Amino acid sequence: MRRASVPEAAVNEDGDPCASKDKIGFSSHVRQRSLMQPKSQSKTVKRRPEGSFRRCVACALPRHTTASGWSRVQRPLGHRLLGWRAMPDESKRIAEALATAGGELNSIAAHLEALQGEPVTPEDWLLVRADLGRRLSRFHRAAERVDRVLGTTGAQSRILQYLRLNIGRTVTKDELSGVGGISEWARRVRELRVEHGWPIQSGVTRDDLRVGEYLLEADEPNADLARDWRVAKDIRSMTVEGRRASGKTRLLEYLKAVYPRSADKEQLGYVAHPMQERPRRLRELAEEGWQIVSNLDDPDLAPGQYRLDSLQQLPARAREAIKLRYEILERDDYACVDCGRSPKHGDTARLQIHHLQFVQHGGDNNTSNLVTLCTECHAGRHSVTVGATRDELLQPESVT
Ligand SMILES: [Zn+2]
Ligand SMILES: [Zn+2]
Repeated sequence: MRRASVPEAAVNEDGDPCASKDKIGFSSHVRQRSLMQPKSQSKTVKRRPEGSFRRCVACALPRHTTASGWSRVQRPLGHRLLGWRAMPDESKRIAEALATAGGELNSIAAHLEALQGEPVTPEDWLLVRADLGRRLSRFHRAAERVDRVLGTTGAQSRILQYLRLNIGRTVTKDELSGVGGISEWARRVRELRVEHGWPIQSGVTRDDLRVGEYLLEADEPNADLARDWRVAKDIRSMTVEGRRASGKTRLLEYLKAVYPRSADKEQLGYVAHPMQERPRRLRELAEEGWQIVSNLDDPDLAPGQYRLDSLQQLPARAREAIKLRYEILERDDYACVDCGRSPKHGDTARLQIHHLQFVQHGGDNNTSNLVTLCTECHAGRHSVTVGATRDELLQPESVT
C-alpha cells in the first residue's frame, strides 16, 4: 500500500536510473539489510567509515555517498524494497585478498628464479618445497576470503556451478581441484552424482573419457540416477537375520532393484563393498539361474556393466546349461571359432553356443559337440539370416 502511495516523481527526483528495476532478483548472498530498517522513506544514514560505500543491488553501482562518508539519502522506493547491498569494504576486501594471493605466487616465482643459474642441492630444493607449502596455504586462505565476499563458499556448489558453465564439455580433474579445493573435489563430485543425481560422466563410466576427465551431460539432475544411488546406499547396508547380507546377495538385490536397467561398475562396486572378485560372484549368480547379462552377451553394455534379463530364476536344468555355456565360452576364449571376433577385445560381436551336430540330427550337449560362434557365423552355419539364430544352451527349446 505504502508503495503505491509514493509518487513516481519522488523516485525520479533522486535521478535514480534504477528506480524501475525493483523487480530484478538478487542473488542469495546479498544481504537484505534494508528489509529490517526503519520504514520512513527519508532517512539519515549513520556515519560510515571513511572510504566505505553503499551499493544498489539493482544497478550494483556504489551510490549516494559523499566524500566525507556522510550521506543523506532520499531513498527511491524500489531500492528500499529490493534491499541495499550495504557491504562496506566489499571491493576493498576482494582487492586485498587478491593482492595477498598474488603476492604469495610472486614470492614463489622469485624464490624459484633465485635458484636458477646456481647448482641446486637437495637441501635447497626441500626448502623451496616447504616455502611453497607455506605460501600456497596462505594463497588458499586469501582465496577463501574472496569466496566469502562473493558467496562462493561451499566446494560442492562451486564445482556444480563450474560444471554447469561447461555442459557437454570435458573438464579435467586439475580444473575441478582448482575450483573445489585439492582435498575436496573428488568427494564433492561423487556427492553431486551419488546424492543428487547430476549426470556427471567420467573415465570410469564412459569409454570416450580418460581417467581424470569429467563431463556434465545435462543441466538437471537425473531422477533415475539419484534413485539408483539411494537404493544402492540402502542395499549396501542390507541385513539378513540381523547380519550384514553377503556381497553376492547385495549384488543380486541391487540388480533386481534397478531391473530392467543396468548397473554400472561403480554402483556394483559400491553395493558389494568391500567384496573382491565381483565378476566371479556375478557368474556364480548366473550359474544359480539368475539371467545376468554383461557386455559379453550384450554389446550395448560397457565392460563392467551388468543387468538382469528377467526377475525369474531359471529352473535347475537350465542352470546346468548355463554352467556348460561358461565352460564352452572359456574354452574358446570368448571368441568365435570361425572368425575369431570377440567382445573381450572391444568388438561388438555377440556370441552364441552352437551344436556342431545339430540337435535335430541327434547332436548332444557333450563339450566336443559345442562351439562358440558370433551371430554372423552362426547364421552362416545354419544358412539363415543374421539374428535368426539363438544361443543353443540358453534357449535350447528354440534351436535353429
Ligand atoms: Zn564369427
Ligand atoms: Zn547353431
